[in-house]
Amino acid sequence: MNIKAPRGTEDWLPGRSERLRRLLDIIVHRAQLYGYDEVITPIFEHTELFTRSVGEATDIVQKEMYTFNDKKGRSITLRPEGTASVVRAFLEHQVQAQSQPTKWYYHGPMFRYDKPQAGRLRQFHQFGVEVLGSEAPEVDAEVICLLIDILRDLGLTNYEMHLNSVGCPECRVEYRKALINYIEPFRQQLCADCQRRVDINPLRVLDCKAVGCQDLMSDYPPIYDYLCPHCNQHFSQVQALLETVGVKYELDPGLVRGLDYYTQTAFEIHIKGIGAQSAVGGGGRYNGLVSELGGSPMPGIGFAMGLERLLIALELSGVAMALAPQLDAFICVLDAHNARQGFTLLKELRDAGFRCDQDYNQRGLKAQMRLADKKGARLVIILGEDEIREGTCTIRDMQEKNQETMPRDQVLNYLKSRVGTR
Ligand code: AMP
Repeated sequence: MNIKAPRGTEDWLPGRSERLRRLLDIIVHRAQLYGYDEVITPIFEHTELFTRSVGEATDIVQKEMYTFNDKKGRSITLRPEGTASVVRAFLEHQVQAQSQPTKWYYHGPMFRYDKPQAGRLRQFHQFGVEVLGSEAPEVDAEVICLLIDILRDLGLTNYEMHLNSVGCPECRVEYRKALINYIEPFRQQLCADCQRRVDINPLRVLDCKAVGCQDLMSDYPPIYDYLCPHCNQHFSQVQALLETVGVKYELDPGLVRGLDYYTQTAFEIHIKGIGAQSAVGGGGRYNGLVSELGGSPMPGIGFAMGLERLLIALELSGVAMALAPQLDAFICVLDAHNARQGFTLLKELRDAGFRCDQDYNQRGLKAQMRLADKKGARLVIILGEDEIREGTCTIRDMQEKNQETMPRDQVLNYLKSRVGTR
């Protein structure tokens, strides 16, 4: 068969899939400690949701969406990111009318028709959080602390946190003018995308990854001189809170989210030494998004992190995730006539919460031991002729390389003492 997975998508075979599961467990645990609840939304949505929330002028909407018509001719898009769906669900189910803030997390596959390379896929996985219904700088600081704590839990210390404020639409009126004045003399030398961006949204020129544009933009006016008193104070408070709890950051006036509903705090986390795709997570405030999607105005903030990139970062940093042993016990039955006894013990151990398996293909003892080893079993429980006759079993500890024989009714307690209570 020569049908392969589509370009930019991946299969997660056992081993790697377990790393993803473990990664998520660690992340979700931390988010729950912070008081976030899970929200699950569909993987596809009406295209309009993304054109309105992500923004018509963005690369995601212009070039990267998986969009198709369904059988009734409705335009459908595989979600390229999570915020839009979360805010849609928030409004659709009238959560806006409940007490605020709402603190939700989500995870799952996202789809972008990007150019695949290391750390950049067409189907990739994100974990993200959104907080709706509070403008307090404490919420900005909380969300950033959560992101940093997740990295700490994972054992990643070689990160840089970039922080900025993009102000509010009012601050940006003057800032836009200042940027356009700055850009005008060399506008024709910018890349074609940026030449268009100057009129639509000059802030997005700051975000261009083209080397030529970056060189030309080396001395742009920073936004800080243009923040209104309210945004300025909000930004100072966020910084003071981060400093109070010892979170290190770098101010990065070039970190922008170009659209009007993105306001104030913006941040991005980079891991050093993992190549070009070093951004493992990013987010910011979007005080204008809820009203853009039809709700009454309500502030929001969130972040998303790329799980594949986190796994790459863990591998390259040599951080070993403590993966659970694959099996607690593997049962070896040496005679097919005794299969029922093996099967009964297997069921009993599984009912007690132990991860257990057995051979189903009538292998000999040696081959069964090899299989147990391959499956990462901590203990091997042998039911041979003698054991069956005497109502015992022999348990071999594969880590400590010793074994002992005991009455069958002691097996459960023995397992508990060796691998803990499940
Ligand atoms: P964004 O939604 O663009 O702010 O992305 C948030 C995070 O998702 C990034 O920091 C990356 O870690 C990850 N990410 C974004 N696009 C991709 C992609 N095409 N492949 C893998 N990870 C991605």
